[in-house]
Amino acid sequence: MGASVAWHLAQLGLTNIVLLEREAQLATGSTGRNAGGVRHQFSHPANIDLSLESIAMMARFEEVVGTPIDFHQDGYLFLLSKAAHVATFLKNVQLQKSRGVDVQWLSPAEAQALAPGLDVTGVKGATYCAADGVADPNGVTVGFAKGAQAKGAEVIRDTEVTGIRLDGNRVVEVQTSRGHIATPLVVNAAGPWAKAIGRMCGIDVPVEPERRHIFIASPPGGSSWDEGANTGRVPKNKLLVIDFDTSFYFHREGGGLLFGMGDPDEKPGFDITVRWDFLPKVIEVAMQRLPALADAAVSHAWAGLYEMTPDHNPIIGPSSEVEGFYTIAGFSGHGFQHAPAAGRILADLITGRDPKFDLAPFTLDRFSGRIVAGEANVV
Ligand SMILES: Cc1cc2nc3c(=O)[nH]c(=O)nc-3n(C[C@H](O)[C@H](O)[C@H](O)COP(=O)(O)OP(=O)(O)OC[C@H]3O[C@@H](n4cnc5c(N)ncnc54)[C@H](O)[C@@H]3O)c2cc1C
Repeated sequence: MGASVAWHLAQLGLTNIVLLEREAQLATGSTGRNAGGVRHQFSHPANIDLSLESIAMMARFEEVVGTPIDFHQDGYLFLLSKAAHVATFLKNVQLQKSRGVDVQWLSPAEAQALAPGLDVTGVKGATYCAADGVADPNGVTVGFAKGAQAKGAEVIRDTEVTGIRLDGNRVVEVQTSRGHIATPLVVNAAGPWAKAIGRMCGIDVPVEPERRHIFIASPPGGSSWDEGANTGRVPKNKLLVIDFDTSFYFHREGGGLLFGMGDPDEKPGFDITVRWDFLPKVIEVAMQRLPALADAAVSHAWAGLYEMTPDHNPIIGPSSEVEGFYTIAGFSGHGFQHAPAAGRILADLITGRDPKFDLAPFTLDRFSGRIVAGEANVV
């Protein structure tokens, strides 16, 4: 998010900006640990609109930003087994179509035909959008950061933001582990750590970290899923399949297969140690949907943090309490794919342009009143 805002600001001619990162490298937070999925299939119209703009930009990323991002549009396939989910997704499909997304309702047999090796027992229906896909999160982040630098923005790593000084209710300075920066404007793009940055100027930014795991499976024998007896046991392309009832999902990653699932028992916290005792629970579900995983070897695993808001929608925009304090955080597990559009919108706001986007569902102030309908398609 930070790199995207910096790039978009620089494109608008605002180059007197500093992107601060406390780690030695960019994209080692949530962005460096995600599954790389990009989809139009959301339940909230504002998220569908963010996807339309972001995915269109990713399709032209190398041309526009100058960095390759290994972008593949092999589709997302949602599998639905509960009658209630079928009803909700039928409505979602109508909504997505009404906003210009080419999404299809599929029978279980049609879903199976798209994903070799898939077991559709109990599946009542599926949705498929061929324009969904996967891209390289590191490429997108580094591309934006390098592009911003080329226009004059500074990227400073190994530097932690430790405080924000206010004069009355205005931002006047950002304090860091390596000195102070005088500024009238600060953007909180700290992902799962956004709450701590908000606290530095007395603002509640309700973002909670939640651990999510990713596992990589190699076929028996350790070679590629595309070789010998393993051919046809898993999809050959990068189609992303989600079993919506369990949140188990997978897609091809090189010769291996990437898979994950949310743990309903996970409590908020910053711990990203891999919980190997969670793997058997995932495998139990995984084997039913993709039997090839029964005899696969899990070659490695990692965990990262979702950055959850109470309604699972992001916060994009200014604070109404502190002048000069902006937030772009809390994307609740779908932020990689929304970075291009979200960064553009915030850069427009900062420079006084009309973002041409209804930001009511994304304001920080929405949490001080009643929570309005949020995003239901979190996986
Ligand atoms: C397992 C997993 C799978 C996911 N899959 C997908 C997916 O398929 N598609 C998708 O769109 N999204 C996915 N996500 C969600 C996605 O990764 C996040 O929504 C997105 O990366 C958020 O980006 P960000 O820039 O807000 O946060 P981050 O990438 O975490 O960036 C925040 C940065 O702020 C830095 N920082 C924090 N505090 C300070 C400080 N005090 N001073 C200086 N720097 C600081 C951090 O070091 C970090 O680099 C997934 C997430 C996980 C964990």
